[in-house]
Amino acid sequence: MFDIYGGPVFNMARQQFLQAADILEIPNDQRDRLLYPKRAIAVTCPIHRDDGSTVVYEGYRVQHHLSLGPSKGGVRFSPHVDLGEVAALSLWMSWKCALMNLPYGGAKGGVRVDPYSLSHKELEALSRRFMQELIPFVGPHVDVMAPDIGTNEQVMAWFMDTYSNDAGRTVTEIVTGKPVSCGGTAGRREATGRGVTHLIFRASEEIKLNLSQSSAVIQGFGNVGSVVASELYDLGVKILAISDHTAAYHDPKGLNIPEILKYIATHGVLKGYSTEALIDPATILTIKCDILVPAAVERVITEEIANKIECKILAEAANGPTTVEADAVFAKRPDIFIIPDILCNSGGVTVSYFEWVQDLQQFFWEEEEEVINRMKKIMDKGFYETISSAKQLKTTNRMAATCAGLRRVHLAKQARGLFP
Ligand code: GLU
Repeated sequence: MFDIYGGPVFNMARQQFLQAADILEIPNDQRDRLLYPKRAIAVTCPIHRDDGSTVVYEGYRVQHHLSLGPSKGGVRFSPHVDLGEVAALSLWMSWKCALMNLPYGGAKGGVRVDPYSLSHKELEALSRRFMQELIPFVGPHVDVMAPDIGTNEQVMAWFMDTYSNDAGRTVTEIVTGKPVSCGGTAGRREATGRGVTHLIFRASEEIKLNLSQSSAVIQGFGNVGSVVASELYDLGVKILAISDHTAAYHDPKGLNIPEILKYIATHGVLKGYSTEALIDPATILTIKCDILVPAAVERVITEEIANKIECKILAEAANGPTTVEADAVFAKRPDIFIIPDILCNSGGVTVSYFEWVQDLQQFFWEEEEEVINRMKKIMDKGFYETISSAKQLKTTNRMAATCAGLRRVHLAKQARGLFP
């Protein structure tokens, strides 16, 4: 059944779902309703290239469920996008939003394209076309998009403008992660990275690790990884290694993050920053450190890598970085404190929720501090609930978090019943 989602990423999300459903003792006949997305939309996006030729890109939006409110989640522009990946990511968004008690179902979108291969004009055309194709299926109370890999504030502004032009009025609440100049909230851009750092701090309290004498390795230097690197650096953590899709650097004495951020501001990518510290990107996750932060893509921590990892805290800033097989290895390694993805990176969607609320009310919070403090409060609740329920259920932090999210969706579906 539902072969259209086939593939390793959806299969991984399904296995995690089944493990959680077993713990919660969800009856077999109710599982498919909770697992499979409510709807999946595939679109073809034709655009004019700068040379006058026409090219089409495949795009997807998967809305996992709408039982708690509109569906919510990012849109990624990446050459690896396929329907199964987007569907898996929509499931993780569902458990994430429910875990954090946000009034949303999960969704995810994607366009199979290398955004770096497009000019600014082509990127605008593609962004507008993608939203145009999805207008019949989204809305501020139906499905609310946000940034993800390969998209940013500018893309969200184009999405919002395209939807608004069709509606004949400005509808800022149709997407989150917009520039502050057109309905965005203070603190959204940094939110995911800040939230990750905050939970690393909480985890360090749990395992009694002195952050100012600790070390970290960060895979991925985009909107999330770069903020985590900078915040940890400011807390006195020695950043031993970083990488992006163009280069990886390792310096046992610690990398100069402020200098690297300046380099990134002009060059956009890590490539070319240094020749001395260059390493093979494949080796970054197994460098011995206190805090390991995968902040790139899914399924990078395989069984083999899990056996070789030498860290005390694994902070999953990316979605789905750890395979089910790797998780089985970690289950036998209680020396590693795992902050699972749906908890670790939830600062992004939490602040998206604040942005949506402000847009709906047209009442904006002036202080960035207010945004940050409210985000930390929500994340603390999710964190302490997760670790206490892991102890109670005698399971991993990942399963405890997934169960908490799944339970909320299940209860809502049960109470609402099946229509008609
Ligand atoms: N793409 C982000 C995530 O995976 C943010 C989603 C949102 O803000 O809606 O959590």
